[in-house]
Amino acid sequence: MTAETVFGKIVSGEIPVEFLAETDRVVAFNDMHPQAPVHILVIPKTSAYANVAELAAGDPDLLAEIVQVSRELAERFADGDFRLIFNNGANAGQTVFHVHAHVLAGGLEEGSLVGS
Ligand code: 5GP
Repeated sequence: MTAETVFGKIVSGEIPVEFLAETDRVVAFNDMHPQAPVHILVIPKTSAYANVAELAAGDPDLLAEIVQVSRELAERFADGDFRLIFNNGANAGQTVFHVHAHVLAGGLEEGSLVGS
């Protein structure tokens, strides 16, 4: 297990947020600092994976579920097209070490990448 992060507290309910989607293994909620008209974070409930490389190696089905939930959110909140960003490591802009997908959608500008 990785050290508890703010996302662990969101999963446990210690920090209340509105879940836009929830499955047995995944939750989604709005990013508190949106960088696109739609900017949703999709995270696994488990805190076992710090980043997407660990998740891909450890549980590829869970990674696929994150992509599937992202696709459904982009259909619900935008036109179905979306940009999916995983910052992997501090030098790539990752600040929360509980793996999360940034789902950006709705009127994206060319080159607008989270953390850049
Ligand atoms: P990273 O930089 O690790 O890829 O992305 C972390 C993201 O989490 C940032 O976009 C930041 O705005 C978001 N974030 C950090 N803390 C919270 C929080 O407590 N609530 C919500 N909704 N988003 C958060």
